[in-house]
Amino acid sequence: MRHKFFNIYIDDISQEQLLKQAKPSFIVTMNLEQFFLSQKDDFYKKVLLEADFIVADGISIVLLSKILGISSLSKIPGIDLAKKFIQQSSRIALLGASEEVIEKLKNIFSEKIVFAHHGYFSDSQEQKIIDQIQDSRPDLLLVALGSPRQESLIYRHKSRFPATTLIGVGGSFDIWSERLLRAPKWMRDLNLEWLFRIVQEPNRIFRLLYILYGLIIFFVSNLFDECYKDR
Ligand code: UDP
Repeated sequence: MRHKFFNIYIDDISQEQLLKQAKPSFIVTMNLEQFFLSQKDDFYKKVLLEADFIVADGISIVLLSKILGISSLSKIPGIDLAKKFIQQSSRIALLGASEEVIEKLKNIFSEKIVFAHHGYFSDSQEQKIIDQIQDSRPDLLLVALGSPRQESLIYRHKSRFPATTLIGVGGSFDIWSERLLRAPKWMRDLNLEWLFRIVQEPNRIFRLLYILYGLIIFFVSNLFDECYKDR
C-alpha cells in the first residue's frame, strides 16, 4: 500500500512482495539523507516521485512514518534487497564505486555480470556508458554513485530500460567487495548500523549533523506554518 509521506510517498510492502513483482521496477530504498534531499530539492523530489517503489532503508524512515500514523512499515535495507535481486537475476549490470571495487565484484558475481563499470566518469562519458548498458540487456541494473546522483541517473535513462529492475545501492559495492565492513548483525538488530558507518568513516559525522540540522529547521518551519495557517 502506498502512503503519502510529507511531499513524496512511501510504500508499505514487504521484501518478499517486492521480489515477486513481475514488472521490472525503479526501486528507491530511502534513508534519512535521501528523504532530506527530497524535501529541499525539487528536482530530486521529482526523481523520487517517478520511482515505482520507495521503501524504508532504515529505522529513521520507519520512525518518521510512525509520526504520520503509518504503523506497519517494514525496514528493507537496500544492500539486502539488492543481494536478493542478484540471486534471482541472470543478467546483472553494475555501475559505480572505484575501479578496484568493481574488478572484485566482477569476480564475485562472475557468470551473471553482463556489464560493469566504475563510477568515476565525466558527464560527457555518461551517454556512451548508458548505450553499453542497454546493449548488454540486463534484467537488473545496480547503481552505486551515492545520492542524489545514482537516482538522478536512473531517472534520466529509465525509459531505455523497460525490462530492467533499477536500484540505487549507495555504498553496497564497497561492502560486497570488502573494502568496507558491514555492521555486525547485533548492531543491525539494534538499528545502530549508522553508528558503525561513522566509526569506519568518521567524516560522515559532518554529513549526519548537517542532515539532522536541516531536518530540525524543516520540521520547525513546517510546524510554524501550520500554526500560522490556523490563525
Ligand atoms: N561513488 C562513485 N562515483 C562518485 C562518487 C561516489 O562511484 O563520483 C561511489 C563511491 O565509491 C561509493 C558509492 O558511490 O562506492 C556510494 O557513496 P556513499 O557511501 O557516499 O553513498 P551512500 O551509501 O551514503 O548513499
